[in-house]
Amino acid sequence: MTPSPQSILEHVFGYTAFRGQQQAIVETLIAGQDALVIMPTGGGKSLCYQVPALARAGCGIVISPLIALMQDQVDALQAAGVKAGFLNSSLSAEQANATERALLNGELDLLYVAPERLTQPRCQQLLKRSRIALFAIDEAHCVSQWGHDFRADYLQLNLLHEQFPDVPRIALTATADARTRIEIANRLNLQNARHFIAGFDRPNIQYRIAQKDKPLEQLLHFLQTEQQGNAGVVYCLSRSKVERTAEWLCEKGFNALPYHAGLSAELRATHQRRFLREDNIIMVATIAFGMGIDKPDVRFVAHLDLPKSIEAYYQETGRAGRDGEPATALLLYGLEDVVKLGQMLAQSDGNEQHKRNERQRLDTMLGLCEITSCRRQTLLRYFGEPAENPCGNCDTCLNPPKTWDGTDAARKLLSCIFRTGQRFGANHVIDVLRGSGSEKILALEHHKLSTHGIGKELSAVEWKSVVRQLVARGYLDVDGDGFGTLRLSDRCRPLLRGDETIQLRKDVAPSAAKAAKTPHNDIDAADMPLWHALRACRKQLAEEFGVPPYVVFHDSTLREMVAERPTTPAALLRISGVGDSKLEKFGAAFLQVIKEFEYELQ
Ligand code: ADP
Ligand code: ZN
Repeated sequence: MTPSPQSILEHVFGYTAFRGQQQAIVETLIAGQDALVIMPTGGGKSLCYQVPALARAGCGIVISPLIALMQDQVDALQAAGVKAGFLNSSLSAEQANATERALLNGELDLLYVAPERLTQPRCQQLLKRSRIALFAIDEAHCVSQWGHDFRADYLQLNLLHEQFPDVPRIALTATADARTRIEIANRLNLQNARHFIAGFDRPNIQYRIAQKDKPLEQLLHFLQTEQQGNAGVVYCLSRSKVERTAEWLCEKGFNALPYHAGLSAELRATHQRRFLREDNIIMVATIAFGMGIDKPDVRFVAHLDLPKSIEAYYQETGRAGRDGEPATALLLYGLEDVVKLGQMLAQSDGNEQHKRNERQRLDTMLGLCEITSCRRQTLLRYFGEPAENPCGNCDTCLNPPKTWDGTDAARKLLSCIFRTGQRFGANHVIDVLRGSGSEKILALEHHKLSTHGIGKELSAVEWKSVVRQLVARGYLDVDGDGFGTLRLSDRCRPLLRGDETIQLRKDVAPSAAKAAKTPHNDIDAADMPLWHALRACRKQLAEEFGVPPYVVFHDSTLREMVAERPTTPAALLRISGVGDSKLEKFGAAFLQVIKEFEYELQ
């Protein structure tokens, strides 16, 4: 008799209940129907095909472009007692032959295959001679010619439908827009598939955006007070900044590694591997780092420069907290970022229309930084999925910003920009407003302007905040000329005429902008020694078995062990993430650690 999905979930994966739509998806496939699944990162897509592959007779074939991850995925399944293998170009002919034989002999539950291999006639012959439980097409958006992850091999995957009409197929992706969805359904012949579309929200990620003010110190403070011993990614715009930041973090005692396209392929692979395998690596990277990183326990993503669009920001921050545990996305930005990105854009290839679109995307990103309402609501609205209530888990919800009547200040700024001929960047305009008598001002005779010295009531930092907010709201344009020249837009007229007032956000000092609660420190100080001991135990087992720590157990499982303190195998089995096979392999070691602590308590 084949086991029920529920018993597979419990015994193999150690979980008590399916999440969201998982159960319906699993049942669809077990019944032999096709499914198209859109679920955000961390939503739990893998179980949607892993459970039915185990429940149905034969082997589940998983097509994935992320070759570098296959080994880890297979390791994780094997740790859970699943007979899994993979076929891709990293294998020797001998290894591949052994895997093929295992498939033919019915000895595999799951087989991961690279798309370019699947499209070879030889591979199709192999599959024809084997018993197939289902086909899972992972990262299905790669079939879309409009997306940037397009893979020509994916276009040929409709052969699955033609050659194996009776085998159910499931296509999965986290890319949610309607156009991509339709394209996937058409190109993969999934018109009759049931669609399962989950929301975009990543509720476990805390979004925080603050202005730059000694960014390295801000980052250090964040790491020291909230992220000790955690893995995370720090994104920087340039390679040299990546290098400098990584070096500086190492000096401060963190395990930071650089990653950018200027490093050799070997070094990049080593750093990526260490990031996946070790517990507490901070990857300092340009956006070259990302695609295909599905380490589940990344606890934070910090941006030291403004991302160029909300899409990029959401994708990059989305790499945090895939395991569903609390994670933080911290962005530090300043007006100089807008100037720099604008300049890069102006110098880039591409036609004017393209540049205008990109410019608009950048402005929308800046708008997200400057809002005074819930960040998540704005993000979700942007992706066409409005949320009714403020989220309670972003910086503006946790520390609602104060506002002030900025009408007078805005008028002074706008007229000063106008009087100086719309030929200068923020620093010079602010100098004029604050009545500076610098050489430059005297040489330009700007001390004779009526706006000279009319803004002494605000500091230079406060004026910068006014500039940023007026840019974000479309009153001012920043030129991509390299100088950040400010110009008035038509949007200014009602404000200058006195028909309109404007409320501005009062920027708090960054140290005070820290979130009200720090999600990762919810382990009591008294429990910290046990927590660290469990992590050390996990690290040792991971090294012994040659797998990343999270393949042994996820953080959430260790956290539950700290809370429940199981001392018998039966009690350990009740912890989420502990299945039969992991209990057998790792149970004794963890029980031993917990028992030692119990004695100490007595
Ligand atoms: P995705 O591929 O959608 O990004 P994964 O399949 O990697 O997500 O799952 C994300 C995390 O959620 C993993 O750590 C996984 O073990 C966990 N998970 C998935 N389904 C469940 C469930 N039903 N109960 C508990 N944990 C789950
Ligand atoms: Zn919020």
